[in-house]
Amino acid sequence: MKKFVFVLAAFIFFADVHAQSYKKLHFKSILCDTHNDIISTCIEKGYRFDSNLTGSTHSDLNRMFKGGIDAQVFSIWCDETQQQPYAFANREIDTLYAWVNRNPDKMMLVTNSDELMQAVHQHKLASMIGVEGGHMIENSLDKLDSLYARGTRYMTLTWNNNNEWATSAKSESDTTAHLVHKGLTDFGKQVVQHMNKIGMMVDLSHVGEQTFWDAIHTTTKPVLISHSDVYKLCPVYRNLKDDQIKAIAKNGGVIQLNFYSGFLDSTFNPKEQAFEKEHKAEKDSLMKAGKPEFFADNYLFLKYADEVKDMRAPFHLILDHLDYIVKLVGVDYVGMGSDFDGISFPPQQMDDVTAYPLITKALRERGYSKKDIRKILGLNFIRVLKANEVK
Ligand SMILES: [Zn+2]
Repeated sequence: MKKFVFVLAAFIFFADVHAQSYKKLHFKSILCDTHNDIISTCIEKGYRFDSNLTGSTHSDLNRMFKGGIDAQVFSIWCDETQQQPYAFANREIDTLYAWVNRNPDKMMLVTNSDELMQAVHQHKLASMIGVEGGHMIENSLDKLDSLYARGTRYMTLTWNNNNEWATSAKSESDTTAHLVHKGLTDFGKQVVQHMNKIGMMVDLSHVGEQTFWDAIHTTTKPVLISHSDVYKLCPVYRNLKDDQIKAIAKNGGVIQLNFYSGFLDSTFNPKEQAFEKEHKAEKDSLMKAGKPEFFADNYLFLKYADEVKDMRAPFHLILDHLDYIVKLVGVDYVGMGSDFDGISFPPQQMDDVTAYPLITKALRERGYSKKDIRKILGLNFIRVLKANEVK
């Protein structure tokens, strides 16, 4: 009996030490998340990032601290229907500036790796800017320069839409699309060269395969994949094929994993389609009443939250995608680009940014060393940021 009590006490002790140690490691490591859409969400819904948005969003300022995020790249985004995308991008940047100005003790606008480290040491959220969609420069290198001057440090060459100089993954994979050109035009190659010159990371999430290869062959700096996953595990157009992953490693770039269930779990899309079919009549009536499609979808997701919960990808798939990249090319080319607040279905347990320590726990359980975990959580991204800097 005594022996049993001793073994039990030892077990509880070691379980507790394990719990403490992953949390300690998580909060001591520098966690950089390279994609979050909370700016668009706040503008759309009139929310304040520095208020408590629990239950309404995946992120807010205090929850980012609770999740152990040290550096966050905020996505500047609009779709192709926006008439003045450059002006809109600037308005979104104004929003981030306002948040930083209101919270000088908690946030710091960061444009390089030295400033990022200063923010970390001052326990402030290193707040970075990434422009998601090349259409926002309106075919002008001057506008690209202005976005850089305001702090933008990556630009995703396309969002889901094509622009006049680059084709997207969505349209390149659509067999019914009539493409005027495929990949990067000559001007598109100039955009990549100009980004290399001024020190803005070339982000190849969302781009079509031809654009990807044209950009990889044009860039002289390591590329960023700010929020994508592995095609072999989930064959959707937004994910990366093995030859692309190998090319990114060869280029010295980094793939930041997206948490969207539809990019992680190959069984998700059929489940989502079944949900749509089940609730089609209700969705149609909402849209007939003048509600936009995203509103109708979100309304139904909230109303049938129990069904939605079962649709979400199992948590372990984030780690499976990560392991796949590590086994294919090594531990130096992967990181975190959650896409929180830009996705409707994060995996089970990853309800919001405060769940981030679970990733570190799972990495420990899968046998990753502390050194490798620090690389995955942030140092791989910082390496790419640094390699793109122009002094
Ligand atoms: Zn995106």
